[in-house]
Amino acid sequence: MAKHVNIPIFIPHLGCPNQCVFCNQRHISGVTNFDPNSVVDIIENSLKTIDAECETEIAFFGGSFTGIDPHLMINLLEIANRYINQGRVSSIRCSTRPDYINSDILDVLERYRVKVIELGMQSADDSVLALTKRGHTREDILTASKLIVSRGFQLVGQIMIGLPGSTPETELNTAKLVVECGASAARIYPTIVFRDTELSDMCISGVYEPLTEKDAVKRSATVLAYFIDNGIDVIRIGLCSSENLKSEESYFRGPNHPALGELVISEYYFDAIYKLLSSKQCKNKIPIVYVSRGALSKAIGQHRINKNRLIRELGLADIKFKEHDELRAYELKSEFEEDT
Ligand code: SF4
Repeated sequence: MAKHVNIPIFIPHLGCPNQCVFCNQRHISGVTNFDPNSVVDIIENSLKTIDAECETEIAFFGGSFTGIDPHLMINLLEIANRYINQGRVSSIRCSTRPDYINSDILDVLERYRVKVIELGMQSADDSVLALTKRGHTREDILTASKLIVSRGFQLVGQIMIGLPGSTPETELNTAKLVVECGASAARIYPTIVFRDTELSDMCISGVYEPLTEKDAVKRSATVLAYFIDNGIDVIRIGLCSSENLKSEESYFRGPNHPALGELVISEYYFDAIYKLLSSKQCKNKIPIVYVSRGALSKAIGQHRINKNRLIRELGLADIKFKEHDELRAYELKSEFEEDT
């Protein structure tokens, strides 16, 4: 299967009349001004670095793409379509809000061959949506998603962990909503507090406390497990590591580990392997856990943390990990060696 590559084009906050408490698109994307004339250069420069064999997609991320000025939206879609016509790009994706989806908008996206729509759902809980000033409800998410899926677009659900008022239960319910909506993929974003946002004021006044790194990892891993069990492809965990997450000018507080996604996947593996082995008789035996190709380091964990925890918590003498070509991502298999 050809490798999938996105050419991201960030459109900061354009056309978005909302002010979600966590959002400062300028800090998140690092883009302060958007120049539509720069789009061709961004695409051309990206294409120079992408292997011709890859399945390449132009991705309009950042603000709410379907909420920007319609002329600008069509102008951007026309540019992207030229690349599809030339055979240099295979498709287009965009991210938007549930309340900026309707039949007319989907007509435009269909005409310009948008294939994937990423919907900022964030939470399935109306009180969390209200506390974060999202400006839409759970019902809006369901309505928009059903329309998107019924029109044949691929749906990606973007959700957040650790928002004000959010709990592990509301987050699991949000993951369930993503599945119910018919999404094929999801992105999980533990909440980061950026400067110049209402959320940073809420931190200062003590109304909001961001998650610790440990809690963010644990809660994201629970949601990841639900997605894996329900066949949802998790395409991103945590914001892309960028200068903005390192910069004191942008980052304020919150779980900001540069490899947060890896930590979450590793936590998932710990839980899954623990569950697999605790149902088996391990006494005087050494388990060999098989994982899919490329998953070994995540299963063992940074500094062998999973390996050591499993030995300790399951009372093992040792545990071995091996890759197995026939296993798919996240699949596990075990067998045992006699402890001699
Ligand atoms: S809808 Fe999106 S772009 Fe607009 S304020 Fe909220 S997060 Fe930011």
